[in-house]
Amino acid sequence: MEDNGKVWLVGAGPGSGELLTAKAQAVLEKADVVIYDALIQLEILTKIPTQAKKIYVGKRAGHHSASQQQINEILLQEALKGKQVVRLKGGDPFVFGRGAEELECLAAHQIPFEIVPGITSAIAVLEYAGIPVTHRGIAPSFHVITGHRSEEAKQPINYDALAQLDGTLIFLMGRAAVKEISENLIKEGMHLDTPAAAVSFGTTKRQKTTISTLKNLEFDCERMNIQTPAIIAVGQVCTQKFEWINQLPLFQKQVVVTREKRYASGFVKKLEEKGAHVITFPTIETVPLKDTTAFRQTMNRLTEPNEKASIGNQWIVLTSPTGVEYFFSLLRKENIDLRKLLSEKKKFAVCGSGTAAALEQHGIYADVIPERFSGKELGRMLQKEANKNDRIYLFRSALADEELQIMLREAGLSYEEVSIYETVFCADSEWSEPIWDQLEQNQIDAVMFTSASTVKGFVKAMGERDFSIVPALCIGKKTALEASSYHMRVTISKQAALDSMIDQLLESEVR
Ligand code: SAH
Repeated sequence: MEDNGKVWLVGAGPGSGELLTAKAQAVLEKADVVIYDALIQLEILTKIPTQAKKIYVGKRAGHHSASQQQINEILLQEALKGKQVVRLKGGDPFVFGRGAEELECLAAHQIPFEIVPGITSAIAVLEYAGIPVTHRGIAPSFHVITGHRSEEAKQPINYDALAQLDGTLIFLMGRAAVKEISENLIKEGMHLDTPAAAVSFGTTKRQKTTISTLKNLEFDCERMNIQTPAIIAVGQVCTQKFEWINQLPLFQKQVVVTREKRYASGFVKKLEEKGAHVITFPTIETVPLKDTTAFRQTMNRLTEPNEKASIGNQWIVLTSPTGVEYFFSLLRKENIDLRKLLSEKKKFAVCGSGTAAALEQHGIYADVIPERFSGKELGRMLQKEANKNDRIYLFRSALADEELQIMLREAGLSYEEVSIYETVFCADSEWSEPIWDQLEQNQIDAVMFTSASTVKGFVKAMGERDFSIVPALCIGKKTALEASSYHMRVTISKQAALDSMIDQLLESEVR
């Protein structure tokens, strides 16, 4: 028993990445294995840690989904290997999720388990369409019913009893049975004009609603092209009165954020606040340098007193907030006292206001800040501000490009390139294919690139493709140039700032 793993039966919510519960997120973060099925959206799947093993048991084009018995078997095998297993299900695991069947199997084999409730689509999808499942005086109850007429179904749906209820009737798995449902409810005495609604792909980019009546529901579902998965609701609460989701400016936008994971969350939050659906697909990661000898040697030289008049200024150049962070953590690691860096002759130059702000966090106000975030602009300013007897130290990523160096060389300035971190490509290849599918189906409005290296990482993750279908929203010229080199459909934000990228999306100017 001791060596056995454990299974968490987890509800993933109805689709939106924001509707995954905090508990579900925490459990996913610790998972060794995640077993998931078809309804789970990429905005949720991409929250699964890269190192976890993912097992898909749903339907995929041309393939059947795994049988319940096969799924039970997989759960059991993984748990017996001692793994922390997450069984991830759409909505809530016990609402038509066959969660109980899986638990029976685990219990029979004494595998320990926990249950993590999820937000069920039965209520939340209607909520996203502005339909309250209860309403005082109008709908005193709600009833969740399966509309799926499975061949094994032992009991047919008791329409007679349902038609007597004055609460809201909510049918899951009912898209194919809309005709049957409405005809039977009418036959059993419900009024033809009873309000009814159907909502497909609720809480996702593809959410579509039709508000109708029992009589017209089937016709309206066809007319509006309501596809499965859909929730069908019948009752007085089905009105347009509380429609709210369309008020969010980015609700119908789905974007891929390729930024490094630990810097992405603020950006993702801003996008989500405006209603966007965000697939987080970090394509790069920065890691500390293993060998810091070169850094130490440079710092020895840099921190020697240089008061002689013949020696000019020493420039410390930092080109990104990440660079600032690594620079100071290296100083700590090497026990370098900050006072050694502070003298009249030590100058700080940064690439833009974001880097300047990061530096200010350490109590240092940069001497040179280009107005626009750009390596070229920084090069131009250094050409103006630095002298021939100055020495310029470029503390940057090992992957940094040569543009700045070339400009300094042209101006006859002496410089030294000092790597302080490495950028590695880290995309979770598990999602490359599903993301590409979404791109092909026009379900992604923008892939957001916040540096040229994120473009490189994305291309590496996708492999050989025709990238001309990729709507690339790029932060600056250099990033755009990189994306263009793969023939992506490039849009550049007006300013080189994350907020400006969001503005671009708001203006719907991404091609
Ligand atoms: N356990 C899930 C339901 C599983 S049954 C839950 O609690 O939500 C699958 C059915 O759920 C689908 O046929 C559809 O009726 C409904 N459903 C799930 N997600 C949905 C969504 N995003 N939009 C509309 N219906 C959805």
